[in-house]
Amino acid sequence: MKMPEFNLRIPGPVPLPCEVREALSRDMIDHRGPEFAALFDEITEGLKYVFQTRYDILILTSSGTGGLEAALVNVLSPGERVLAVINGFFGERWFEIANAFGLEAIPLRFPLGSGADPEEVRKAIRKAYPCKAVLITHNETSTGVTNDLKAIAEAVRSLENPPLILVDAVSSLGAIDLRPDEWGCDVVVTASQKALMAPPGLSLISVSPRAWEAVEKASLPRFYWDFRKAREYANRRQTPFTPALTVLFGLRESLKLIREEGLDRIFARHREIAEFTRASIKSLGLRLFPEERWASNTVTAVRVPEGLRAEEIIMRMREEHATIIAGGQGELKGKILRIAHIGRVSREDMARAIEVLSKVLKNV
Ligand SMILES: *Cc1c(COP(=O)(O)O)cnc(C)c1O
Repeated sequence: MKMPEFNLRIPGPVPLPCEVREALSRDMIDHRGPEFAALFDEITEGLKYVFQTRYDILILTSSGTGGLEAALVNVLSPGERVLAVINGFFGERWFEIANAFGLEAIPLRFPLGSGADPEEVRKAIRKAYPCKAVLITHNETSTGVTNDLKAIAEAVRSLENPPLILVDAVSSLGAIDLRPDEWGCDVVVTASQKALMAPPGLSLISVSPRAWEAVEKASLPRFYWDFRKAREYANRRQTPFTPALTVLFGLRESLKLIREEGLDRIFARHREIAEFTRASIKSLGLRLFPEERWASNTVTAVRVPEGLRAEEIIMRMREEHATIIAGGQGELKGKILRIAHIGRVSREDMARAIEVLSKVLKNV
């Protein structure tokens, strides 16, 4: 196998397995023809496996953010109240989208580096009645924190008249356990370029029966994102508009790889590699950014040591060692480094990246 030129350790897009890369060179097919129908079936079935769901799955052509916007415009009406649980940049972004669409979004913020407290979420919803939906980021990629989605969903569902639970699972689904049906998550959004190991270009969304009821009543304007149209076409094994065919070719292969390895083994591998990464970081004398009990299995955030510049560390790793890591976003810019271990990643990939980090730190 050809070694990758770079050790790309950013939290998406992730390096592609060679089976996926090869599939991307295929010529186009008729997206209204029988070959597409077979592709559509195969992908939908594979996605149901990765999503661990019996709910409907919709395929939209967009990056993850498009999927997050789609989730809101399909289940809500102008002026309706939603609670946005925020502990980082991506939670903030979803809150901003809610504001852009004229929803009455109430932010519930937790300190950066810690997870959301289920009981506080429950209380905030009760205070915000009638609250139609709660927006939760499962894995906050910007801080390297995984929220306890199961416990949060349980707390929310224990309320009388619970709001819809909408989940940004873009950097978790397929790498960290998430069970929409069992946990009662009504809309779960992910994207093709993270744990699903395909190129960017698709968002994948599960929709519960309760969410479908809301879709019928919702009156926010929608056209390209309309879930009803997507479902109607899915029944004919098509998408309403020309889909990102090339990404689908890649996704078909990555879903096969996921099935071959098995979800439980994939979750365990991410956990082990994350533990290895955190232990290695600490052994260099560096400090993790999040409280360790919240630390994510897909991305590790590290505090930049006093007196050093994040941009310089990142630039030297890139220029001198072909190793690409990410910095902080928003108010964490310059304060943290983020090293991702999501998708087809091995302990060796991480060991190499951390060795490079260690070398660069010794002479910055
Ligand atoms: C990557 C990511 C997104 C989506 O970003 P796009 O660039 O729109 O694909 C959304 N939420 C989280 C938590 C992410 O990690």
